[in-house]
Amino acid sequence: MAYGYNGKILRVDLSHGTLSTEELGDAFYRRYFGGRGMISYFLLRELAAGIDPLSPENKLIFATGPVTGVPISGSGRNSVGAKSPLTGGYGEAEVGGYWGAELKRAGFDAIIFEGRASSPVYLWITDGKAEIRDADHLWGKDTGEALKTIREESGERFARFAGIGIGGENLVRYACIINDLKDAAGRTGLGAVMGSKRLKAIAVRGHEPVDIVDKNVLLALNRKIVTEFPGFTKNIHDFGTGATMTKYAQNGNLPTRNFRDGNFENPEGISAQTIKKTISVGMDSCWACGVRCKKVVKLEEPWSVDPEYGGPEYETLAALGSCCGIDDLKTICKANELCNRYSIDTISIGVTIAFAMECFEKGLLTEKDTDGLKLTFGNSDAMLKMVEKIARREGLGNILAEGTKRAAQKIGKRAEMFAMHVKGQEVPMHEPRLKWGLGLGYAVSPTGADHSHNIHDTDYTLEEQMRPLNALGLSEPLPPGTLGPKKVRLFTYLSIWRSLYNCLVTCRFVEFTPTETVNIVNATTGWDTSVWELMKVSERAINLARLFNIREGLTADDDRLPERFFQPQTSGPLSKTALDKNEFDKAKHLYYGMMGWDPDTGIPTRAKLEELDITWAT
Ligand code: SF4
Repeated sequence: MAYGYNGKILRVDLSHGTLSTEELGDAFYRRYFGGRGMISYFLLRELAAGIDPLSPENKLIFATGPVTGVPISGSGRNSVGAKSPLTGGYGEAEVGGYWGAELKRAGFDAIIFEGRASSPVYLWITDGKAEIRDADHLWGKDTGEALKTIREESGERFARFAGIGIGGENLVRYACIINDLKDAAGRTGLGAVMGSKRLKAIAVRGHEPVDIVDKNVLLALNRKIVTEFPGFTKNIHDFGTGATMTKYAQNGNLPTRNFRDGNFENPEGISAQTIKKTISVGMDSCWACGVRCKKVVKLEEPWSVDPEYGGPEYETLAALGSCCGIDDLKTICKANELCNRYSIDTISIGVTIAFAMECFEKGLLTEKDTDGLKLTFGNSDAMLKMVEKIARREGLGNILAEGTKRAAQKIGKRAEMFAMHVKGQEVPMHEPRLKWGLGLGYAVSPTGADHSHNIHDTDYTLEEQMRPLNALGLSEPLPPGTLGPKKVRLFTYLSIWRSLYNCLVTCRFVEFTPTETVNIVNATTGWDTSVWELMKVSERAINLARLFNIREGLTADDDRLPERFFQPQTSGPLSKTALDKNEFDKAKHLYYGMMGWDPDTGIPTRAKLEELDITWAT
């Protein structure tokens, strides 16, 4: 393998304690790239249909992409995938930090874990060598203690860590995997899969730079990012995510009290600006990134919050804040720290607690169920206690650890009305009653509600916002509250483009244009790729993920939104408007048609599979 890749993946059989390497060849890499492309390929090829996601039969895959570890902003990420214990379908999450770049520098492009260890283990990788090590002494420990111990034991103080805390060990269905304590492969419950395999961590140290064809092209494009700061990168460079909290409260995008209300009283109190003024101790970065958008916070009272665990992103501030009716910034920061210690997705846990708060308000849960906690909206102390209970699966926490969909079934009565999920995955912190295309994206995403490989309609309302997208054939601005054929076309093209980041495994916050992205891939690999080929790589991966879900029994009926989004918010800017169900249904079926899927069933047609050369997958 010449440039960009190592050409090698590592396979770890935890049941038998054996390791092997595989070489896949140029053609494989050019067709599937990495991240979602690789993960969907291996899951479809190697998993039997219908397996239990928490059984040894599931496989847990860590994958990089062609530009992981090269000297350019946004290139330090990695993807993780498995059959999801939360959705029962295709599971995948992306994560920033340094681990992905370190894996590449250690000589591997991906790792596939199979089976289940007989007792806890961790994987140690350094410069092309790997070893399964005992982790009995680490089981039950926070991610921070595990990281510190592994670094001490290995003598490698710069070893990079991807691991789980008690959330993953206790199989919380939305447990995540934490990279170096600050960054989370947050969604679809992959930390629970890791826990089910008794795999505590993967620690990596690598010293070999990734070979690239033309470093100067990368350095010039990187200079542009840190001098021009295109799009919203200047804002997140200065404050981190969450600087638009007040704007979101004004336009209705800020989920409030379980997506029910539209008026959040104190958005400034939980904004990135307030964090900067009060409890920030600086900004951090991912590998090679000049945007440096990661907040770091420190608190000494009323409890300590350790800056080693970073700080809350927008999604966390809203999920554990406004969505629970909470404006107590310090408590949100503590909850964020706990989630990183325990390896729990902050979006899912915030939405699950908000769901329980609404059930409590409606009398579907009582103090008898909550061990005396007054689980009301705005009760920050109860929220924090509930985070602990969920992580430890204590009392009601044991039910809420199953996620909103299963918890609603268990609670019964009318609880399903308050369960804000798609395909079992809790809805992120963006409002489909404002952004109608985003609502379509929540519904059809292969991983359940997702805001990353989705569109945000408010970003495409002005001529100047469309200019960077001209190379995709998109130039006409459109209002956010529409779902006509033009919006469906915009969604179709852009969701394919944005899903490409899941295959390149790069950061969406670093706003390179499509043409610049082509130049980055070519300057790294020496290929002669194009926007067209990149779109096809992404489309291939989307289709593979969809085929995986179809094989697991998901249908067009699962591409649906919670009923609440078809009713107005109770107050605020969206109190007189909601998604139109009829228009939503028409848009969904039109999208199927535009994707080359059967317009009624959403099943990819034979012609589409032939075009993408993936007929092997059916
Ligand atoms: S923009 Fe932020 S999240 Fe993205 S790579 Fe840079 S520092 Fe990491």
